[in-house]
Amino acid sequence: MIRFRNLSIKTKLVSIQLFTTFFVLVFFLGFYLLSQYKQFEEVSFSRMSTLADVLGSNSVSAMVFYDNGAAREVLGSLETQAEFLNAALYDTTGQLFAEYHQPEEINYRFSNALSDSQYTQAGYFILSREIVSENILVGWIALRLDTSTREALLSKVLWQSLIIFLLGLLIAYILSIKAQESISDSIRTLAETTIKVRDSGDYSLRVQSNTRDEIGMLVDGFNAMLEKISHHEKHLEDLVAERTIELEGAKAKAEESDHLKSAFLASMSHELRTPLNSIIGFTGILLQEMAGPLTVEQKKQLSMVKGSSAHLLELINDVLDISKIESGRLQVFGDAFKIDLLIVMTVSSLRPFAEKKGLTLEYLIPEDLPEVYSDKRRVEQVLINLINNAIKFTDEGSIRVVCSKAENALSIDVIDTGIGINQGDLTHIFETFRQVDTGLNRVKEGSGLGLAICKRLIELLGGTINVKSEFGIGSTFSVILPLKLGAQTDED
Ligand code: ADP
Repeated sequence: MIRFRNLSIKTKLVSIQLFTTFFVLVFFLGFYLLSQYKQFEEVSFSRMSTLADVLGSNSVSAMVFYDNGAAREVLGSLETQAEFLNAALYDTTGQLFAEYHQPEEINYRFSNALSDSQYTQAGYFILSREIVSENILVGWIALRLDTSTREALLSKVLWQSLIIFLLGLLIAYILSIKAQESISDSIRTLAETTIKVRDSGDYSLRVQSNTRDEIGMLVDGFNAMLEKISHHEKHLEDLVAERTIELEGAKAKAEESDHLKSAFLASMSHELRTPLNSIIGFTGILLQEMAGPLTVEQKKQLSMVKGSSAHLLELINDVLDISKIESGRLQVFGDAFKIDLLIVMTVSSLRPFAEKKGLTLEYLIPEDLPEVYSDKRRVEQVLINLINNAIKFTDEGSIRVVCSKAENALSIDVIDTGIGINQGDLTHIFETFRQVDTGLNRVKEGSGLGLAICKRLIELLGGTINVKSEFGIGSTFSVILPLKLGAQTDED
């Protein structure tokens, strides 16, 4: 069942008016019916009383002279009025003197005829009066009247009332439909506009109102609110447009300066590499004593110059790589090569550094590895970086390079038993210039660029790089390298 409070305003208003009319009509028609009922009773008793007086006075001489026949004749005049069922005359001793009755009312006897009274009994009006002549009591007369005419009259009045009732309700309905329009139409328009504004976000919509009542005030308030919102919206749009222009300018500036920075770094690195290579080359010549014999101390110091220069060159190469990658100028070139050979060569070249620290460096490669079509130089660079890191961060134990075939790709794991990495640092180690400060590894040299370069390179080759590590136990760096360098990667 639909609850009253969920009905539309229109239905509510019409229902309230109909209910009110219904109760008012019921009240007035009930009152009218009751008054009709009473009025009929009063009229009937007054008619009976008049008739009793007339019949009584007409019967006086018959009663005084004990002439029952004449008295019956007087009562017999009632024959013309069929609703009078019984009439009776009683003498002063209370004896029945004469009577009249409709044929079917032969057995009826008045029970309380010797008094001045009138009452209703079992649907009949009964009236009795004294018969007085010249202030002397002559006897009593009693009359009994059928009330069926009253029922007929009442049912007629009832029908009339019902028609008036239905007519009243109909008129009330029509009037209420018309009357509620001014209220419900405005509220409905207001509600519809609210929904439209909510759904479309169009704050330029307005509600029309011709009334100056509370609804008119509500509509004015709603329109004013929409006005304010659309004003704020416009202001906000202008502000966003203004800020967007500013941001675009700032972005362009940032991009330009980023570009300039990368270009500067690239050219600087290039400029630095040439003299550095000379330093490394000439210190090499000096160390080989091609320019003349050296003392032990001179050899030691020249070796330090060569070592530092090589480290500096490594750093410069890293900076050059990362700036090229970040400015989008680093290109990768696809070539077919055998990955097992590359791993064997790389491991062999780095094994002396591992052995110098007392570590074992080995590889595990299955026999049936397919050929790879990728950038061999960049894959080698990543491998060297990962193995170098493993050697750098492992003080005892072993380093293993494990290669296996994955779906359309190769998986290369570099596993060490080194110092490991905290879980919290794992997400940061692939960022540029990030070095994990554990206190333990701070003695290790590095730029913090190695892993960032590895990640970018592997991504350029269409692969991924991940790390799993347990602090104090060791780390595993896993590279997934696609067998075929993607066409999209080639363009880079
Ligand atoms: P760095 O030049 O300092 O080695 P990387 O980018 O290569 O820079 O590495 C970033 C950091 O990640 C290192 O400083 C080190 O803390 C950590 N790290 C890299 N590889 C390993 C590893 N095999 N074992 C433990 N820590 C490692």
